[in-house]
Amino acid sequence: MKFIADAMLGRLARWLRVLGFDVLYYPDIADGQLVKIAREEERTILTRDTHFLKRRQGTDVMFIYDDDVFAQLVQIRDKLDFRGVARLGRCMVCNGMLERVAQKEDVRDSIPEFIYLSIHDFVRCGGCGNIYWEGSHLQGIREKIMSIFPGYKGPFYAAEDGGGK
Ligand SMILES: [Zn+2]
Repeated sequence: MKFIADAMLGRLARWLRVLGFDVLYYPDIADGQLVKIAREEERTILTRDTHFLKRRQGTDVMFIYDDDVFAQLVQIRDKLDFRGVARLGRCMVCNGMLERVAQKEDVRDSIPEFIYLSIHDFVRCGGCGNIYWEGSHLQGIREKIMSIFPGYKGPFYAAEDGGGK
């Protein structure tokens, strides 16, 4: 189950990646290009824009009618198939695959010291090199996501600020 999100759905794309889904997102992509990629890579288009329903050219389209990212997740949760998602989740910034950091010492220079001292498990994005960990910075959002997906056991590797807009 692969997606491509339109320019208005950056936050949704990021949290779907955290859950392990393969989601492309380009904030400035032209509509025609988006449809072309969706068709070539058999991706479902996530969109807030009804005109994609007309331009779909045989691609699957999920029309998202809510503004709030959690309401958006509620809207599509019954259509999501977690089989085949990335085991450790994906990088919320670039969609890369996350890999476990074997030696904690390897990330020492890349993270704040208090994080290094209090957290034991880190993952690194194979694409952009971002480092993530599960910590108290995620507790609130994790609880919200778990309330939407009660069966979801994690992982839950994300950045404190949600990876930007
Ligand atoms: Zn990345």
